[in-house]
Amino acid sequence: MTKISGAIFLVVGGIVSISSYLIDKQKMKIFIFIGYFFVALGAAKLLSSFIFQSPKEDQPKRQSPQQKTISTEEKVMQKAMDPHGYIGQCAKCSTPMRRINIYCHRCGSKVQ
Ligand SMILES: [Zn+2]
Repeated sequence: MTKISGAIFLVVGGIVSISSYLIDKQKMKIFIFIGYFFVALGAAKLLSSFIFQSPKEDQPKRQSPQQKTISTEEKVMQKAMDPHGYIGQCAKCSTPMRRINIYCHRCGSKVQ
């Protein structure tokens, strides 16, 4: 979208400045200036679109709903795996279990 509008600015600005230059250089000075301004604006838009709209742009939009569920699952997995001594889940109630636990602290069933 920004690329297209930038190109339009370039083309319109070029046409305005060139045509007003050809019609009357003296009387159309303002329009030549406006044309140059449009060209500059279009060039700036194109440049900024090239700089800021890298190929990454469409990835976050596409992934955001799925990635949230994955990240929460990963967080649960990380919690269950190790960082604070969690090594697994209770077979009965699937509560994260610590290495030191012999009995599940939630439902009381024996783990080891
Ligand atoms: Zn349990």
